[in-house]
Amino acid sequence: MPSRSYSKKRIKQIRAEFAAKRRRQLFTLIPALIAIVAFAWAESTDSGKLLGIDSGIWMPIGIASVAVLVIVATIDWRCPACDASLGRAINPDFCPKCGVQLQD
Ligand SMILES: [Zn+2]
Repeated sequence: MPSRSYSKKRIKQIRAEFAAKRRRQLFTLIPALIAIVAFAWAESTDSGKLLGIDSGIWMPIGIASVAVLVIVATIDWRCPACDASLGRAINPDFCPKCGVQLQD
């Protein structure tokens, strides 16, 4: 896949944008994981509660946080250079479309 030529300044900018995107993905992933684990944990207790919160409440929190994750991923998880979707790659080094190096 031929790599488009970007100026050094632009590449620096692309990598900074990509780093910010990765942080945003992480900040939406963490609450989703916590909510899912909390739901499973609450389900496994005798009372069906975790931290005094019923599993029936943890479940919609989990679903909502996964929905936020999916929306953020769909809108934001794109190559900063060419705007192509980065797909399911969790930590890509290169854009699958334009081939720009996203990180060292
Ligand atoms: Zn690209």
